[in-house]
Amino acid sequence: MAISPLMPVYPRCEVAPVRGEGAYLFDADGKKWLDFASGIAVNLLGHGHPHLTKAIQQQAATLMHTSNLYGSPQQLSVAERLIALTFADTLFFTNSGAEAVECAIKTARAYHYAGGNPEKFRLITFSNAFHGRTLATISATDQEKLRKGFEPLPDWFKVLPYNDLEAVKAALDPSIGGFLLEPVQGEGGIRPATPEFLNGLRALADAHDLMLVLDEVQTGVGRTGTLFAHEQYGVTPDIMAIAKGIGGGFPVGACLATEKAARGMVIGTHGSTYGGNPLAMAAINAVLDIVAEPEFLAQTRQTSERLRAALQQMIPNHDLFQEVRGLGLLLGVKLNGDSRAFVAHARSSHGLLTVAAGDNVVRILPPLNIGEAHIRECVDKLSAAAASFQPAEAV
Ligand SMILES: *Cc1c(COP(=O)(O)O)cnc(C)c1O
Repeated sequence: MAISPLMPVYPRCEVAPVRGEGAYLFDADGKKWLDFASGIAVNLLGHGHPHLTKAIQQQAATLMHTSNLYGSPQQLSVAERLIALTFADTLFFTNSGAEAVECAIKTARAYHYAGGNPEKFRLITFSNAFHGRTLATISATDQEKLRKGFEPLPDWFKVLPYNDLEAVKAALDPSIGGFLLEPVQGEGGIRPATPEFLNGLRALADAHDLMLVLDEVQTGVGRTGTLFAHEQYGVTPDIMAIAKGIGGGFPVGACLATEKAARGMVIGTHGSTYGGNPLAMAAINAVLDIVAEPEFLAQTRQTSERLRAALQQMIPNHDLFQEVRGLGLLLGVKLNGDSRAFVAHARSSHGLLTVAAGDNVVRILPPLNIGEAHIRECVDKLSAAAASFQPAEAV
């Protein structure tokens, strides 16, 4: 048989970790990597964090799963906790980011349906967006590499240039029910929304009874230095999808909404077998115990400033590096060259894990609780990798 046991949709590399400790991963032979990828912005407390590990272990032994047909005191208390920390009045728990975005799209649709405007079914989304890999979420982007082979895709989205408010104004028509965007585009190349853009979308939504839907799957849960990125813009969404960091490594997500925005999500409109099971709730509680503390977020912002300054200092020493982008610890280094090849080189020759993004950007996504020594180690490894990088090197 020629096909691998795992459906070959990922180009697997030589890194095969079997154990993690803080900001490091180890393979079966004891080889060590500095993990500034964090499972793509997931392991925000690093690997093997004692508080998170213990919470999951204890809950696994107590009650792992029950059906959403029954009451869940665990879900209710975590929902109340997240609601107290955000703009939201209500939420739905999912198992992943794409599912959280799916629920957000359904919530926006149901809002207009319940209001007697089912024709407002379409959302405006933005060029180079990443919202997940389901059929609906790949329809919400113009990224060819995500859509190729799966067309025809539903015509539920109108994709416009990011940060172009005039284009949005010009595209409003009776089919538009709202906007769906990442406040900082992650996979698309660490591109923050401009304050004018996000505030402008909020104003348009208010003026035309449209839903502002934020995908904070990557930007959320402290990653940008505030609990959610939109806080830094002074803009609140109507609906928000979260996942990745919220479980610290346990697969869980949520779709949060205001009472008004959720008016169509009535009995029978949505569901999930696993969504919000007690084990996932224990993980969220443990993550929030740490990340939702103002001192932790202040520390994250300080760490971000130090890492950013160290990266900035390194830029002029290497022709390969162009600029530093991003917010908090969602940082990107823009290259004058192929970021995928460079990420592979830094990984295989210097033991540093980062993530490639669009626009030849290297994503730097460390755990939020790293220290000064990790910052120095990362910058030293990046510098060494830049010095030894052969641009033609195969990925
Ligand atoms: C990762 C990501 C998703 C998809 O999350 P999955 O858990 O992989 O389904 C959606 N939106 C954004 C912005 C992401 O970064």
